[in-house]
Formats: sequence, structure tokens, C-alpha cells
Amino acid sequence: MDLRLSAPDRELQQRARDFTEQVLIPLEDECEEHDGLSPDSHATAKQAVLGWGFNAINHAVEDGGQGHDTFRQMLIEEQWGRATGALWDIPWRPSIPLARATEDQKDRYLRPACRGERRDAYAITEAGAGSDPSMVETSAVRDGEGWVLNGTKWHVTSGDVADFLLVHAQVDGDPAKPTVFIVDKDTPGVSVVRTPKYMHTFVFEHPIFALEGVRVGDGQVLGRVGEGYELTKDWFVEERLMIGARTMGASARALELSLDFAKRREQFGKPIVEFQAIEFMLADMAAEIMAAKSMLYRVCWQAARGGISRKELHALASAVKLLCSETAGRVIDRAVQVHGGRGYMREQPVERLYRELRVDRIWEGTSEIQRLVIGNELRKRGPDVYTGWPAEG
Ligand SMILES: Cc1cc2nc3c(=O)[nH]c(=O)nc-3n(C[C@H](O)[C@H](O)[C@H](O)COP(=O)(O)OP(=O)(O)OC[C@H]3O[C@@H](n4cnc5c(N)ncnc54)[C@H](O)[C@@H]3O)c2cc1C
Repeated sequence: MDLRLSAPDRELQQRARDFTEQVLIPLEDECEEHDGLSPDSHATAKQAVLGWGFNAINHAVEDGGQGHDTFRQMLIEEQWGRATGALWDIPWRPSIPLARATEDQKDRYLRPACRGERRDAYAITEAGAGSDPSMVETSAVRDGEGWVLNGTKWHVTSGDVADFLLVHAQVDGDPAKPTVFIVDKDTPGVSVVRTPKYMHTFVFEHPIFALEGVRVGDGQVLGRVGEGYELTKDWFVEERLMIGARTMGASARALELSLDFAKRREQFGKPIVEFQAIEFMLADMAAEIMAAKSMLYRVCWQAARGGISRKELHALASAVKLLCSETAGRVIDRAVQVHGGRGYMREQPVERLYRELRVDRIWEGTSEIQRLVIGNELRKRGPDVYTGWPAEG
């Protein structure tokens, strides 16, 4: 068993770290102070993404992406996760279900999105449908050659900068026919209801959208009618693994900042790192990061290597998301404590991370929903996927 990173992987990891240090972190203060970035900063950052080759890291080269496998995507996202303000969302990664688009849809949506000329946002959640997507009320009703969509979508991340939405709807209002529709935001009937404020500072917004009598043609169905859960599951698996990556990057930064602060800050005549109460908090942070990160690397390696079923990967991604996000929650809580009053100031990265990491236990399925997925796997197929170890062959 060789756990070492290859030279090309190490190089990619370093490039992602350099990008974070040179492009993303310098934007943190502006993002926090102005609750977002100026158009000039956005334009400069976009050019940087293209220049560094970090656009669409999750899509195939023939579609204009970078063609990185899950392991390499994780290495990149881990480094981006060090930045506050959700600046990791600046490098666009078109939703993975778009890889299943027809050639015509790829020409109209995926390929321009990979180039940074278009941007998507994924709209599943509704006022009455969160953890349970079968409660979705957005309907798509057949009308002549096309469809008419009606519904309201909540928390649509990056919906302000997206120019098309992937809308999860029930065909004929039937939960047995969940279907994803590609909806241009300028289609008549699409409107922003409101743009709520959230706990975190996020470089983009999460608007609520209304769809009222929105007419789309057959060419706007992504995949097949009734395939919506499958597509959305692919999206969840990828997003859950990348949440694991980003929370580990953020946790590592929180530990580094806390260690550095604890060595410099003196009280009672000595650096606070010399108090065992502080040292033990740092020790717990380090050990927990090591455990969660080891799991993240292993599962992403398995995903990249192949030979694992979609069901197994779905089950493993839930465990990664659960452990990494909950670890990050504990790590950042201690980081604020180590920083004392300074840890409560918005000008400190640990304060921002404290607010920002909270949502990682909620979105893309809450911690409770990840436990349900794991419990379901245990009941159906036993504990092997978690307690076993991948072998050769
Ligand atoms: C900042 C932000 C961005 C988001 N971005 C997007 C996006 O881009 N697209 C999108 O579609 N959605 C998005 N979401 C929505 C997010 O995925 C949901 O908020 C999440 O899935 C939980 O749904 P809910 O908020 O309706 O909570 P609910 O489902 O109402 O859950 C409330 C509580 O009940 C618990 N609960 C529910 N069911 C069970 C159960 N069976 N067993 C035990 N406990 C249970 C939950 O764990 C939670 O603690 C975003 C949310 C936020 C906050």
C-alpha cells in the first residue's frame, strides 16, 4: 500500500494553493466589507481562473473542462476551501449532471459554461421540500410540443450570477416522474421573488425564484423524463465529496492560524500555547483533521480508480460529508476559542470560517440525512463498505 501523492498530483495541489494565496485570499477583505465583490474584482478573478486553468475542473476536456478525476478535483478544492467568503465558488464548476446532456444541449449550455460564458445554478429545494425532495411541488405539464413549469425554488446558490437554472420538477405533479429541466433565466415567467441574507458572507447570493407558466421545449429536458433523482444524486455525490475537501482545507487553515496565534499571544507571562488547555485544543484539532482527511483521500481515490458501484460511492460520500463537516465544526469552534476576543472579530479569518462552515452541516443534505443514508446502507448491504478496505484487482 503506497499512500504517497504522485509528483503530478503534488504539483497540482501546489498550484491550487498558489491560486488560493495569490488570487482568492487577497479578495477576502473586500468580500467581507462589501458583502461581495465589485464588477472589476469579479472580472479580474474570472480572467485569473481561465489563466490558471481552473475553469470546469470536473468536466471532460472535449467539453472544455480540465478533465480532472475526483481525486485531483478534491486536491484542488481542498486548497480553495482555505479561502473565506466562499471565494472557492469563483472558479465555476458546471453541475455534473450536465455531462449527461445531449450534444445540442452541450453546445448550448455545458461547453459555454466550461468556457465561463454561461453559468448554471441547481434548483431543487422549495418552501415545503428540503430533506425530502419527493415533496417538490414544482410541476411540469405537457403542453403541445413542450412543457409548462410552475413552482418556487429556494436557496438557489449562485442564482444571481447564473444565466440558466437546472430545475428539479415533477412531471404532471407526479413524484414518480422527477425530471430536471434546463431553464434560461430570461425565459418569460422566471423571476426573483427575493434575495435573503444568510449567516455567512458568500461571494454570490442564494435567491428564491418563481416559475410562473414557464414554457420550455423538449430540448430542455436534461436526461430522460423520470430520471431526475438519478441526476440529482450524481450532483449530491460530487458536491458532498467536494464539501469534504473544502472543509478540510478550511480546518487546516484554522489550525495553522490558531497555532501561530497561540505561539505569539502572551498572557500570565508566557505564550498561551504553553498552557495545556490551549495545547490540548490544538492537539484535538490536529488529530481530528488527520482522521477526516484520511477518509476523504481514501474515498476520492476509490472514486477516481473506479471499480466501485454508484450505490457504494453514494453511501461513502455521505460518510465523508458527515465526518468532514462535523469535524470542521468542532475545529473552528476551538479555533475561535484559542483566539479569544480576536476570534470574534469579523476581520479575523477564523471568525468568518466559524460562520461559513456552519452551513456544511446543512446543505447538500443535513447531517441527519447523511446518517439516514449510512443507516440505509448498513441495513441493506451490511457494514463492509465502511469497515472493509479496497483491495487489488
Ligand atoms: C446557504 C444555502 C445554500 C443552499 N443552496 C442550495 C442550492 O443551490 N440548491 C438547492 O436546491 N438547495 C440549496 N440549499 C438547500 C439545502 O440543501 C436544504 O436547506 C437542506 O437540504 C435541508 O432542507 P431544509 O432546509 O428544508 O430543512 P428540513 O428538511 O426542513 O429539515 C429541518 C430539520 O429536520 C431534520 N430532518 C428532516 N428530515 C429528517 C429525517 N427523516 N430524520 C431526521 N431528521 C430529519 C433536518 O436534518 C433538519 O435538522 C441551500 C441551503 C442553504 C442554507
